[in-house]
Amino acid sequence: MPRLLIVDNDKTQLRMMQDGLASENMEVVCARNARETFEAIYRLIPNLIILDVGLPDVDGFDILRSIRVEPRYDAVPVIIFSADHNSESKIKALDLGAIEYLEKPLDIKEISAHIRAILRFNLKQDKTFAEYKRLSELSLIDPLTGAYNRRALDTFLKSRLSESSRHGIPVSCAMFDIDHFKNVNDSHGHHVGDVVLKDISDLLKGLCRQEDALIRYGGEEYLVILFHTPRDGAKIFGERVRESVTERKFTFGEREIAITVSGGIASRPEDKLTDDPEAMIKLADQRLYLAKRNGRNQVISIDT
Ligand code: GH3
Ligand code: MG
Ligand code: MG
Repeated sequence: MPRLLIVDNDKTQLRMMQDGLASENMEVVCARNARETFEAIYRLIPNLIILDVGLPDVDGFDILRSIRVEPRYDAVPVIIFSADHNSESKIKALDLGAIEYLEKPLDIKEISAHIRAILRFNLKQDKTFAEYKRLSELSLIDPLTGAYNRRALDTFLKSRLSESSRHGIPVSCAMFDIDHFKNVNDSHGHHVGDVVLKDISDLLKGLCRQEDALIRYGGEEYLVILFHTPRDGAKIFGERVRESVTERKFTFGEREIAITVSGGIASRPEDKLTDDPEAMIKLADQRLYLAKRNGRNQVISIDT
């Protein structure tokens, strides 16, 4: 049920409004001075405020100004309802952030219609925002690390990758996997494991260029697409990642955890690959597997 706050020092006016709005499906709360107004706003976070600017103890415009600078309430629409028909007051109110300026006296049916219109519009906006939030949550970003997820890889990164290949622009894929990560979880707990995953993601991000893309490819696997980067550059990058992780101190209270990563790199034009991004990712993965077999904490970029 929408919550409506009516601010007016005139009891009769308040009563008339309350009665007139009784049939509307909304909770109506009244305030007669600045103190009651802010109490009600704080308690209620109303969906709409109807504010008379001619209050005895404070300038209604000051209330409006205060509402508009408070981030928690600044999206709450405010209708000014005033006996002051002066054009300057109207301009002032609207410039201070009121959504409408209604002149007293006004038929309650008309007021109700204004209220309904604004609430309807707000509801639509709320729904749009909720939908936006929902979409961005199931979107292209992995929530734990802030890196791209697999969906982003499929949605647009693969096409960028194949476009680079097609136009003869060097591009490399580097796949990294944390060594013996299961032990981190087993010895220190899943929460510590999560922190390590986020830290390594940040470390990778810090080593990437702006135009590169970091993807959390699996639980503890990361894929970095290095655009405009042939094998030599990718090898340097891979080695830098490996060294940085080894040197990095992962501390949790008294405990220090040593982490290493293994990596596999595939590059165009050096590796004879088709334009198919899958083939490139697969080759990087195969080399990663080789790095694991060879003893971990190494990055392989050629067939040995
Ligand atoms: P290897 O060196 O061969 O890669 O060994 P590993 O232990 O890293 O590999 P394995 O594939 O056996 O285990 C991966 C572990 O990663 C197991 C899984 O519980 C953990 N993991 C996957 N996703 C997450 C996550 O989001 N958070 C945490 N804490 N652990 C995760
Ligand atoms: Mg692993
Ligand atoms: Mg793995």
